[in-house]
Amino acid sequence: MIGVKEVEEPKKQVPLVGTLKAMITVGKHLFQKPVTVQYPEERPRIPDRFRFRISLSLDDCVGCTLCEQVCPNLSIHMNKVERENQRNKRKIYPDVNFGTCTVCRNCEEICPTDAIYLTHEFETARTRNSFTYSPEELSMPEEEVIK
Ligand code: SF4
Ligand code: SF4
Repeated sequence: MIGVKEVEEPKKQVPLVGTLKAMITVGKHLFQKPVTVQYPEERPRIPDRFRFRISLSLDDCVGCTLCEQVCPNLSIHMNKVERENQRNKRKIYPDVNFGTCTVCRNCEEICPTDAIYLTHEFETARTRNSFTYSPEELSMPEEEVIK
């Protein structure tokens, strides 16, 4: 009939071929090192260019608010922190909400004093508090932050 395509019959496979192929694949992988790691007991290798958790040097922050202005996700807000710092007369420092931060690095790049920077740390999951790290928490090593 015109306009009707003939349906091709599916190729018949010898039943053992598939099984043999699978066995060869399994055999190949039996002697290879697994690509998975037993996290958290085993730490994964972190690539050099990996960046996540933001840190803040309270002594170096001059409270210019540039990091807050440049953040595309409004993840940074300035907070009043009562501490002695001759370089930060207004006593304002950034916090960071890691729930919305997309690790774009704008804040690090614009900071005139290198006070805010991204690190290799990635274990920022919290059980009780919000995802927002206060300026003081940003200045602590991750293991000291109360989660
Ligand atoms: S890395 Fe980007 S998204 Fe995250 S706080 Fe800095 S400017 Fe905002
Ligand atoms: S962290 Fe840097 S950019 Fe942000 S307020 Fe402090 S000095 Fe300014």
